[in-house]
Amino acid sequence: MDTRRALLEDLIARFPHIPAEAVLKEDLLRSGIAFDSSALTDNDAGEVKPKSYFIFSFDHKPLRELGEAAVRRPPEEIALTGGPWELRRTIVSVRVNPDSPYRVSAGEDGLRLSLDAAPIADVALPPMPPYYRHALANGKSVMEIAPTIQWGYLIYLTVLRLCQYFGAKEECQYCDINHNWRQHKQEGRPYTGVKPIDEVLEALAIIDAHDLEHASRAYTLTGGSVTSRVDGFAEADFYGRYAQAIEERFPGRWIGKVVAQALPRADVQRFHDYGIRIYHPNYEVWDKRLFEIICPGKERYVGREEWHRRILDAAEVFGPRYVIPNFVAGVEMAKPFGFATVDEAIASTSEGLDYFMSRGVTPRFTTWCPEPATPVGRDNPEGAPLEYHIRLLEAYRATLDRYGLQPPPGYGPPGPGNAVFSVSSFMDTMAPESVDSAEFATLG
Ligand code: SF4
Repeated sequence: MDTRRALLEDLIARFPHIPAEAVLKEDLLRSGIAFDSSALTDNDAGEVKPKSYFIFSFDHKPLRELGEAAVRRPPEEIALTGGPWELRRTIVSVRVNPDSPYRVSAGEDGLRLSLDAAPIADVALPPMPPYYRHALANGKSVMEIAPTIQWGYLIYLTVLRLCQYFGAKEECQYCDINHNWRQHKQEGRPYTGVKPIDEVLEALAIIDAHDLEHASRAYTLTGGSVTSRVDGFAEADFYGRYAQAIEERFPGRWIGKVVAQALPRADVQRFHDYGIRIYHPNYEVWDKRLFEIICPGKERYVGREEWHRRILDAAEVFGPRYVIPNFVAGVEMAKPFGFATVDEAIASTSEGLDYFMSRGVTPRFTTWCPEPATPVGRDNPEGAPLEYHIRLLEAYRATLDRYGLQPPPGYGPPGPGNAVFSVSSFMDTMAPESVDSAEFATLG
């Protein structure tokens, strides 16, 4: 394709059942966005919700190379509408890339997104939520302890900002959690390594008091893998105690989720007993050879086959719909070891989707962001081909339909114009009526 615009238009024409909103969103997530100073925030003093750096950097450059965006944070997300494709409202997580062909800047009638200098969408920024204007008693911000993403739907509790998979032989090859912690510390930003439970409860109390419309519906407990102990606890109890404290203080106020290793069944049962309702034992990449290369820590501590077996065991504890393992879409095409063609990559990923969905387990995915401090990001700054991402959306929807499954719970409303899930467009491609709202009522 001669231009990026031509690439998008070709894919929109060839995949008419994939909304144009999803095509553009995938390209923004894999390529990042440049921001003019007019589109940056005034951090915690302004009217726009700033990017919280809720777990990974999700940027295409290190902080020190972001220019003004390193001092005045970009917004957490953007909402796109209009433009030549008449976009319905599309929420996109912000990944900063000063070299991106996409740029947000001030136009005559407000902010706009342009591609290679031609306008393609109107842009709205998330308003500063009232709860971000209140600090904890010790001065820490709510954004630092309990940021919200997905336009306020999800409270993202990265209670452990480091992973005990450490170094090149253990860290997942696309993950910059440990690097991100170091760069924020080096820049002197507040960045709590282990969040005390009391601070989490205090931040949640502020959210609960000021989120009068109950936009926040779920929380995710997450962070690095625990291979030894943190605060004296192994992984299930380390993360589980937060859920226990939250559920005791705010029973049923939010849907509780945890992202953790695929743990033995007894540990998984403890998660459930602590009050967690959705479990994410992320399998990251399906192919056996690539899993061993890309996820050496997971291979070393658990092993691929055992990881998958534990996912199915967990389905017996939580119910299959409530075990939702993530994979990182696109990383299986990372050079030099990844699949060379989109066909091969889609065939492999589809095999994984089939394996889980045929057993009632519905995976979900995030779009790979090639962060520069990671081995695969450094070697693949362009990420995966856009066609891969569009064909994955197609394969995901087809497999879901083949097994008569609904989109996984806990991701907000489905469908173009409705979806709030911001780090992949899989919810934007679902039929608007495809979620059982009664299930959300019981969960939330
Ligand atoms: S398990 Fe892998 S993806 Fe998760 S925090 Fe550790 S290194 Fe990152």
